[in-house]
Amino acid sequence: MARYTGPKCRLCRREGAKLFLKGDRCFTDKCAYERRPYAPGQHGRIRKKMSDYAVQLREKQKARRVYGILEEQFRSYFAEADRQKGVTGANLLINLERRMDNVIYRMGFANSRDQARQMVRHGLFLLNGRRVSIPSIQVRVGDVVEVREKNRQVPVIQEAQQVIARRGCPSWVEVDGAAFKGKVNAMPTREDIQLAVNEQLIVELYSK
Ligand code: SF4
Repeated sequence: MARYTGPKCRLCRREGAKLFLKGDRCFTDKCAYERRPYAPGQHGRIRKKMSDYAVQLREKQKARRVYGILEEQFRSYFAEADRQKGVTGANLLINLERRMDNVIYRMGFANSRDQARQMVRHGLFLLNGRRVSIPSIQVRVGDVVEVREKNRQVPVIQEAQQVIARRGCPSWVEVDGAAFKGKVNAMPTREDIQLAVNEQLIVELYSK
């Protein structure tokens, strides 16, 4: 699956919010958004009144960029969320949160979702004892994610485990850092997802 490979800090500046796309750097004073908290480009500092459509579009782009998903795939996530019972906006975020690459990031085995995605692709993780290489796999309650034994000394995994204390681990997963293992104890709820996105605006955008 294709992915965005351009400059990441530019995305935060475009959305006017910290999207935490660069791991540890996002928590330091090197953060580009903290240094230049305005949109990129020549006219970035000019404040324009946004139309309703523009506000909805920005919320969608923000969610899409946080999880590193391209437009077409994001639309399929929306279609799936719309088919499910319950609140479409919350379903959408929960489905994104259940992606294998996101779960690895949340468990602290990677510093960013991008890094997690690359490591999954390279087959560094086991899901319920089986090697997986598809970052978009959706985890279920009771699933066990584990770093393969031969990959436990990979420096990025070691570093990520040191950084997780700063970021915190959500309550729906349980991690045993010493065993390089994590378990999904519950489905995430909307309240568990600490994301400053108004998902209702995304629903309005796609419902036009
Ligand atoms: Fe965004 Fe700052 Fe992280 Fe860059 S360093 S990705 S601007 S939060």
